[in-house]
Amino acid sequence: MFTEKDLRELLDCNAPDAVLSVFLNTDPSLGNADSYKLRLRNMLKKVRLTEDVAAVERYINMEYDWSGRGIAIFSSSKIGFFRAYPMAIPLHDRVQIGDSPVIKPLANLLDSYGGYGVALVDKQGARLFSFHLGELKEQEGMLGDSVKRIKRGASSSMVGRRGGGSTDSSAMDETIDRNMREAAEFSIDFFESNDVRRILIGGTDDNIALFRSQLPKAWQSLVVGTFSANMSASHAEIHSKAIEIGRAENKKRVQRLLDIMVTNTAKGQGAVIGIRDVLSAVSSGRIKTLICVNDYHEAGYICKSCGILTVEPAEHCEGCGESIEYVPDIVEAAIAYTLRSGGEVELIHDFPYLEGDNKIGAILRY
Ligand SMILES: [Zn+2]
Repeated sequence: MFTEKDLRELLDCNAPDAVLSVFLNTDPSLGNADSYKLRLRNMLKKVRLTEDVAAVERYINMEYDWSGRGIAIFSSSKIGFFRAYPMAIPLHDRVQIGDSPVIKPLANLLDSYGGYGVALVDKQGARLFSFHLGELKEQEGMLGDSVKRIKRGASSSMVGRRGGGSTDSSAMDETIDRNMREAAEFSIDFFESNDVRRILIGGTDDNIALFRSQLPKAWQSLVVGTFSANMSASHAEIHSKAIEIGRAENKKRVQRLLDIMVTNTAKGQGAVIGIRDVLSAVSSGRIKTLICVNDYHEAGYICKSCGILTVEPAEHCEGCGESIEYVPDIVEAAIAYTLRSGGEVELIHDFPYLEGDNKIGAILRY
């Protein structure tokens, strides 16, 4: 299971020679092993790192068990570096070569789908789950004092006894209170030991509210969603809820970035939209976050001497006068430049209104 620790290890990997990063969607509902192998072969066709291509293909053909919905592979054979991480969440297809592993897609996954805790609660107890990147990591349950027994006792003892009802129903309230308090304490222990960073609560509206009120403020702030469910809900049900909310969270995060990009571009400071302005910002190392539609490609030119990127055809670099070189995909070059200069890259999916010149933009450092 991919963790923050793996991410840090990838961050620390600086290869003097190129690193091949491969992300492949292997969602079983969209295709089979053969179709994915074929797609991978096409994606790797232009890659000249033959040893790394062979290592990736060997892994896919011999070791990958195809149970995952995506796979991330990093290879730099010259330094003997090879890592493969099967994922329970689909990844978007991507192949990139750079002097370090491309980690942004995995950082995004951790950001959106990492460290989920789910508490399913009723008046008597709680069932707890921790999900990480779409996989069930741990589960536990606790059962407090029976509420039903007291309820039955209360109704029978009320017959013919004045005032007995209020005593018994307050005894029931006390039991519920105690159960909820214990469930909350138990949950916090569980969430803490499973590195949970966001919490979902399932149950009836009443029980969700009661349980939530028993959580300390700091833990309440980690609650990202609630859903109605009964205590016998299946793993699959709970899992799909967690994924659904993870997806919504991710969409919100990307939408926030897009909002900043659009607002600041309109103000004329702090952001740009369109390939020309983006390339000029990349050339001067001003990119904080490069935002780009996943399948956007554009031909362009690079000056190897001063590093200027442009889409304007010219004989010589307008910056330094040296000759410039044609590249079939200047967007790839912009992504590599940005990552190398410590910027972030956000590849956009599922935002269909990003068309034409809006397919690329950036939030700037200054
Ligand atoms: Zn130049």
